[in-house]
Amino acid sequence: MTDVINGYAAAASDADLAPFQFTRRHPRADDVVIDIQYCGVCHSDLHQARNDWGNTRYPVVPGHEIIGRVISVGESVTRFKAGDVVGVGCLVDSCGECAPCCEGEEQYCVNQPTPTYNGIDRHDGLATYGGYSERIVVAERFVLRVPDGLDAKAAAPLLCAGITSYSPLRHWNVGQGDKVAVVGLGGLGHMGLKFARAMGAEVTLITRNRDKEQEARRLGAEHVLVSSDAAQMAAAAGRFDVILDTVPTAHDLNPYLAMLHLNGTLVLVGMIGPIAPPVHSGVLVTGRRSIAGSAIGGVEEMQEMLDFCAAHGICCDVEMIEMQDINGAYERLLKSDVRYRFVIDMTTLKR
Ligand code: NAP
Ligand code: ZN
Repeated sequence: MTDVINGYAAAASDADLAPFQFTRRHPRADDVVIDIQYCGVCHSDLHQARNDWGNTRYPVVPGHEIIGRVISVGESVTRFKAGDVVGVGCLVDSCGECAPCCEGEEQYCVNQPTPTYNGIDRHDGLATYGGYSERIVVAERFVLRVPDGLDAKAAAPLLCAGITSYSPLRHWNVGQGDKVAVVGLGGLGHMGLKFARAMGAEVTLITRNRDKEQEARRLGAEHVLVSSDAAQMAAAAGRFDVILDTVPTAHDLNPYLAMLHLNGTLVLVGMIGPIAPPVHSGVLVTGRRSIAGSAIGGVEEMQEMLDFCAAHGICCDVEMIEMQDINGAYERLLKSDVRYRFVIDMTTLKR
């Protein structure tokens, strides 16, 4: 048995998002049914809607920064009840048996985690559809508790932008006095600044945009470097322990690698395809430097991140939009004209 749901979908890579009706499964025993209140707009939504990664299944209903209220639960659900405010991020399932899953790193499930949209449910073989919709049905294991004290609409982007910047900072043990740079001040970048600062690091923003300097300082940066200023970039050679690179398109990594200290790591979170131009091995070898990548975070770490936000009074800076504004929001996202995350008020879907 299934339920008919209203949402917004892209029907092709060159099509605007438009109203779309689809079905969701009738809840299974371990499912939580969530009435969606807010959904953040991730750059990945745009990549996927426009088939930038060549794997989009149309029609695609994007949205993986979901906050909503539980309306019902399956009979084996123990952690949630009707009325709870909950979150859902980029994943709705994984094999649950491989080593990464057993270690709480479902995002690296060797049998492929099930994405919240553009995936195939591993039990019924049906397409998964995301948060640009009125309701979602998700297994309890992938539902997050939203701590009291977090503003629900500003918390929505924590479910992707938040965890994707938090997880690498934790993995590379960022702490007191470490020198961390964040490249790109967008959805992920603004949370990278806040988290690195809260972990005690000395934080630098590297941006193309001189106008973002004041804002970056408000968000936690002590220093700001403008990437087009060669002198500023050269003066920062060898400075950073960790650089979190959130740029969404292919770009030259060599200048950033040169800014790493001995043993430093450049962590790519942007989904940029092949690295071009080539990286010179000399810059890696001479400082024992690394290039790494990092994907979102596991369920347990997501809960840790939400609790960290509540404990440190951290949330996202959001610009609220109506569902009907989504195509304009994508155009603004492409121009980096968002401070710093669009969040859709999902009640507007019914207009
Ligand atoms: P966003 O809000 O658009 O921010 C990206 C920022 O990068 C922009 O604000 C801009 O900052 C900078 N930028 C944009 N185009 C650039 C260019 N051509 N050259 C240099 N800098 C540029 O995007 P987001 O939502 O933060 O996502 C960033 C990337 O992470 C996307 O590729 C997304 O798909 C990916 N992502 C990955 C994961 C993961 O698990 N690894 C999770 C979520 C998202 P300035 O104006 O300050 O330069
Ligand atoms: Zn995302």
